[in-house]
Amino acid sequence: SLLDYHSCAGFDWACNVEGSVAMAEIYKDNLLIAGMGRTGMSVADYFDSAGIEYTSCDDHADYVNCSETIGDFHGYVIKSPGISPNTLPDSKSIKIINDVELFMRISRKPVIMVTGTNGKSTVVALLEHVISGAGIRAVACGNNGLPVFQAMNKDVELYVLELSSYQLENMASLSCVSSVVLNIGIDHVERYSNMQEYMAVKQKVYTDSLICVYPVNRKKEIEYYTDINGYISVGDHGEVVYRFDDETIFRNDSRYCAVSELALTGNHNYLNICAVLALIEPLNLDKQKVNRLLKSFKGLPHRMEIVCQDSMGRNWVNDSKSTNVHSLRAALESQSSQVCLIAGGRGKSEDYQQLFEDFSGVVARLILFGEDARIIGEQAESISDRHIVNTLQQAVGYVGDFQGDILFSPACASFDQYSDYEARGDDFRNLARRLMSC
Ligand code: ADP
Repeated sequence: SLLDYHSCAGFDWACNVEGSVAMAEIYKDNLLIAGMGRTGMSVADYFDSAGIEYTSCDDHADYVNCSETIGDFHGYVIKSPGISPNTLPDSKSIKIINDVELFMRISRKPVIMVTGTNGKSTVVALLEHVISGAGIRAVACGNNGLPVFQAMNKDVELYVLELSSYQLENMASLSCVSSVVLNIGIDHVERYSNMQEYMAVKQKVYTDSLICVYPVNRKKEIEYYTDINGYISVGDHGEVVYRFDDETIFRNDSRYCAVSELALTGNHNYLNICAVLALIEPLNLDKQKVNRLLKSFKGLPHRMEIVCQDSMGRNWVNDSKSTNVHSLRAALESQSSQVCLIAGGRGKSEDYQQLFEDFSGVVARLILFGEDARIIGEQAESISDRHIVNTLQQAVGYVGDFQGDILFSPACASFDQYSDYEARGDDFRNLARRLMSC
């Protein structure tokens, strides 16, 4: 049955051993948890409760320094997401894994895996909502902020894993019910020697998946995996299984639901919904229930979240989670009329010029703030009504009596002025509500 579905193929140093055997192998060796933030702590708690010995390191505060510890360590290093791979030596005596790999070897519950540049959190949250609502206890965990060892619980029947490409790098136990690479933008590509390498890491999720879900525009890349897996395509054109247009989501030729009934809007979200429907196919959930659950999902904060509708009838849209050009493009593509765009922060040396040219008809006013406002502004000559300011508060001040919605989709990291995208989005929400009294 699906509940027994588990294997751990792929590791050259622990190959052909199934779950518990692979774990026994791990436990015989030395274990080092590198990084004692939330993720490392959750692994430590698990080891403590299971009576498993380990050592730990962290470059901050009260711990032993990692670079020193790893220098003469033999065994398994369980790497936290925050630890840069460059600080880990390239040595035969250490085997680098992470908490998710460990989890995959311990847990015997079915798993759905989601990766991609944008949309991961939205898709895993919607999967959790739909699967749980339809009666199978599911939890979304991993890169979404809930470490897998915190989510691990005997009552959970299925795990929805959000995986970053960094996490996939240190994983080989990838057997799952279904998986998807939602999209491949160029965020983080600087860490890889080229785009092919970046794509190859993301596509690892397909290695041992019963059903591979893929956007139709990446059909070529998926062909490599089709010998060994079932696959389902999603998209808005061509021969696809789950297809959407401006009005409807279809499965093949039959109508699945009307998009006007959904709280999620924009083509990128219709694609996300198609991906969810494809990913849950092996679970055979009740279609009527799924339909209802799609409609009741309200979306996540900071992703195209309408935080205020002001007295002029304008929507103030908080898309603070947009940290790259790819997500800003998705936000602009989903606009049906002209907007005032507020963007900026710490850029990732991406090409903004093409984006602004493509959407010069949509972005009627552009307000840039933050560290890279000026650099980005130089690439925005196609938009004549543009302003450069320092802070988000000043940016909001420049909206004035603009006739149209206000879209806050920064396409930059937040770290120049905020602790994270959430703090930045909260600030926008407060500023908008205070200014507009809504
Ligand atoms: P992630 O967890 O991958 O960062 P989120 O669901 O948090 O993804 O969304 C990040 C940003 O990307 C948001 O600005 C959101 O509106 C946008 N987005 C969501 N889905 C997609 C998609 N399929 N393609 C492009 N952008 C998307």
